[in-house]
Amino acid sequence: MDVEGLFPEVAPLRRQALRLHPRAGGPARQDSSVGGPLLWPAHEAWPVCPEHHRSPMVPVVQLHAADALGIVPFPAGCDLLQVLWCPRDHDGRWVVPEVHWRDAEGVGDIREAPPLPVEEPYGHVPKPCVVHPELVTEYPSWDLADGLWDALEPRFEQVEAETGWDYQYHLSTAPGIKLGGFPGWSQDPEWPDCSGCGKPMDHLLTVESTEADAASRLTWTPVEDQGVAYEGPGLVLGDLGGVYLFECRTCPGRPYKDRFDCA
Ligand SMILES: [Zn+2]
Ligand SMILES: [Zn+2]
Repeated sequence: MDVEGLFPEVAPLRRQALRLHPRAGGPARQDSSVGGPLLWPAHEAWPVCPEHHRSPMVPVVQLHAADALGIVPFPAGCDLLQVLWCPRDHDGRWVVPEVHWRDAEGVGDIREAPPLPVEEPYGHVPKPCVVHPELVTEYPSWDLADGLWDALEPRFEQVEAETGWDYQYHLSTAPGIKLGGFPGWSQDPEWPDCSGCGKPMDHLLTVESTEADAASRLTWTPVEDQGVAYEGPGLVLGDLGGVYLFECRTCPGRPYKDRFDCA
């Protein structure tokens, strides 16, 4: 489907995203993974939740720069991204995430992850998965400006009537766990501003509950996966919603914030 041929107005808004395609398996500590063991240095304390004192966070994503395929600029001297979160219920939030960047070579002796917290809600701890990174092109869905949406809507409807392809579900943003691209909003966008410089933050990572629903499966399932049953990380975030991480790439220390929503 030639999205930019059909809707040239969205061409300048094109973004690349990296889908991780996590599949249940046995990732090693050295591997990029979802919910897998982390390269965590023995000399650093394991992260604990700021709201549940002494409640250990759980690994969500570990990604080597080599597997990120240039989609996000890593901080100088860092080649490993690690995202953890506290899976327990919080006041008004599903999880409390943390982002760490480090130099994989410099990790040295390893700290083992502490046992899982006993009270985590169902579907908040991802099963260990290996990843299969794939670069895709995205166009804004919920992030499309209202005026542009209104202008394009008759053509969206016309294309859907003629081809069955729905712009929002099939042609704009990829579902699942992804780096860069557009956040996987299922409601109106709520981009955070950086508390340091006041500018809108960049999207770092979307962690959605599922990689494909009946609607998106038509177009967003890789050819290799067509008709193949697989087990993913098994996340259930709200009503099959997502958690979105944002960062400021200009302020020192790469401050980050998170948002979440569901249908
Ligand atoms: Zn917590
Ligand atoms: Zn900033």
